[in-house]
Parts: sequence; C-alpha cells; structure tokens
Amino acid sequence: MRLYEYEAKALFGKFKMPMAENILARNVSEVISAGEKIGMPAVLKSQVLTGGRGKAGGIKLVKEKSNLALDAEALFEMTIKGFPVNSILVERALYIEKELYLGITINRADYKIAVIASDSGGVDIEKVAAETPEKIYRVELDIDEKLYTFQGIELAGMIGLPSELVREFAGIAGKLFGFFKSYDAKLAEINPLALTKSGELLAADARVSLDDDALFRHPDLAEMGIEKRHEEGELTLREKRAREWGIPYLDLDGDIGMFPGGAGFGIMGNDFIEYFGGRPANFMDSGGGPSPERIARMLILLDENPNVKVIFGARFGGISRCDDFAKGVVMFLKEHGLSKPMVMRMTGNMWQEGVRIFNEAKSENPRLFEKIEFHGIEVPIEEISKKAVQLARESK
Ligand code: GDP
Ligand code: MN
Repeated sequence: MRLYEYEAKALFGKFKMPMAENILARNVSEVISAGEKIGMPAVLKSQVLTGGRGKAGGIKLVKEKSNLALDAEALFEMTIKGFPVNSILVERALYIEKELYLGITINRADYKIAVIASDSGGVDIEKVAAETPEKIYRVELDIDEKLYTFQGIELAGMIGLPSELVREFAGIAGKLFGFFKSYDAKLAEINPLALTKSGELLAADARVSLDDDALFRHPDLAEMGIEKRHEEGELTLREKRAREWGIPYLDLDGDIGMFPGGAGFGIMGNDFIEYFGGRPANFMDSGGGPSPERIARMLILLDENPNVKVIFGARFGGISRCDDFAKGVVMFLKEHGLSKPMVMRMTGNMWQEGVRIFNEAKSENPRLFEKIEFHGIEVPIEEISKKAVQLARESK
C-alpha cells in the first residue's frame, strides 16, 4: 500500500527524522491558515499517490501570503497522472544547497535489503540511475540483519559528504532503516534528502510503500487514520472509468498501450513488451466474449491516455470471436478515430470473418486504417512486440 507523503512523514516523525514543519490542508482556507502558521516562504505540495509531482507542476513555492489562495486553488484543480489533488501539504520552504537521495527497498532478486544513496538526488533520480549508475551506491543486508552506524558512515563517504555531515547522514539512514523494519515497508525513500544552505540535512520528500499483508501487525496505523485504503481512493481516473465500463484495467507507467485478448494473453503481452525493452502503459483484460462496444471502449481508454505513444493489439480468439473484435475496432475507428499508431495481430476463432470486416470497412474508408499495421497468424507475437517497442522509442 502506497502512502501519501503526509502519512509517510507522520510515521517518519515517530523516528525523529529531521524534517521541515508541515501541516496538511484539505481546502483553500485550510491552506491559508496553515500558511499563516508556518510562515513564508512555504511550499504547497499536492498529495497524490504518485511520484513526479515536481515535474508535473504539483509543487509550488509561495513567497507571499497573498499568493496562498490562488496557488492552492490552482493545485486543487490539478490532476496528476490521473490522480486528482484532494489535499495539500503546506511545508516550511527549505533553502536547498544540494539534493541527495536515500532509499531502502527489498531486492527481490536476492532477498536482500538494499540501502541506496546518491549525491545526485532530486527529480531526475531515474535518469541518474539509468545513465550514470556509478553515481548510485548501495549496501545490501540480509533480511534479518540490521544497518550499523558504520555502514551509514561508509555510505556517506561513498557519496562524498563532507566530514561534518557524516554522522548526521548515518543517523538519518539508521532512522529510515528503523522505520523500514518496524513498519514492514517494501520501499522507503527520501528524495530529495535536502542539504540546506545552513548545513542541515532534512527529509524533503517521503515515498513509502508498505506490505499489505503485514498491515495487521500495525494497529497504530489505523489510529493515525492510515487504513488499508478503500480501493476507490487508489484508482486513477482512467481506472475508475474502466471500472464503470466493467473493464479490468490498471494504469502502469510506460508508454505502450496494451490492447489484448483475455487476461492471460494480456499478461503475456506485457511480458513480451518488457522483454524487448518496452514499458506497458497499462494492463487490461477484455473479459470473456467481449461485445463490440466493450472493445471500442478499451480502445477509447488507450487512445485518450496522454502517456500512450503506440497501441499494441494482440487478439487471440478463443471463447471470444475475432468478428466481434473486428466490429468493435471498426466501431471505434468510425465513431472516435485513432490518433496513435497501432500495431496489431489477430488470430483464432472466426479470424477470417474478422479480416473480412476489416477489409470491408477499409474499402469504404481507407483513411480509418491509416495508423494501423495489421498482421495475422503469419507474423509471430514476438515480432509485433518488437515493432511496438521500436515505434514507442521512435516517438520519444
Ligand atoms: P516529487 O517530484 O513528487 O518527488 O516531489 P518532491 O517533494 O521531491 O519535490 C520535487 C522538487 O521540488 C524537489 O526535488 C525540490 O527541488 C523541490 N522542492 C520540494 N520541496 C522544496 C522546498 O521546501 N524548498 C525548495 N526550494 N524546493 C523544494
Ligand atoms: Mn521526490
């Protein structure tokens, strides 16, 4: 279960993690009174269950009290990666000298706890990890080992912290580790760990995911109002819309829109895309024997998703029929139109009829199919997957 920043920070507080003073606000007038209390400059941080708020404009620095209301209003109107902003954390602004990174997670490949640090923290940490992995340092621990102060000191040395900050850093690493273990976290990340101009180290952000299956061990969470979320609250707007339409759908953070046959074929398709180096934007299941309407709606979800660069269609007609599938695709093309390239493959039950329906619609209006690259059984699924990955790459 992913926690909001304000929840994670409340838990960090129990471990005396150094942080700037902050107050949670649920509407504009609460933002104003929180701002009055904390004083200017303050940062308004939209509380959504996704990262990358900074880049999306979800973090605002406010210098004058008179700007609080307008900035808060603007944030409350935002939707970040599909999540509406329902609350704002008002925090004393920091004068940041340098942004570090400190995170703890479980390395599933070897069942170890990885404590990870970098001197290049901030909003581009993913880029740092991908392009300059030598700037990321880690200490790995067995699952029942603890993090010793000397290991925190070692990490501080690796990221080149000046000697006067080493103890402080090791202390923060120890507190984060204490939190991680005590609350059965899967991920606990401080990014940025801010080094301020006055030489303090403060946790400026907190990203935490807890193990759902261990929540029963922490009754204090419910007392703090942190409960296993009613699933609704964690759904993105697209996921909600899909649910209203009865389509099992999950947003992922890639750029290839997955338009599969059933759930099994969907999972396999996602695996193929990942295997060839791509990133699915979603997981979706059409359910057994989907109607043309449902097929059309599946495509609407993908075509209207701004993260999707290319659509990967892989339909294997089993119980479901390729002719219904083809009708749904044609219905979508006629009523809605396709704005993204789509690579697709269709085989199985009634595929000849499916192909006939496509060809008929195409002869009526070839432009409908302009963006579609269509294949049948002669082209293996691997080839279609590679093609989708390649198209997504080219469109970057
Ligand atoms: P994220 O983008 O969702 O990870 O949100 P963060 O809380 O990490 O904020 C993004 C960026 O906003 C940080 O990397 C900082 O550069 C900046 N930021 C956040 N809080 C403060 C603050 O108190 N003062 C200043 N000057 N910048 C901040
Ligand atoms: Mn962050």
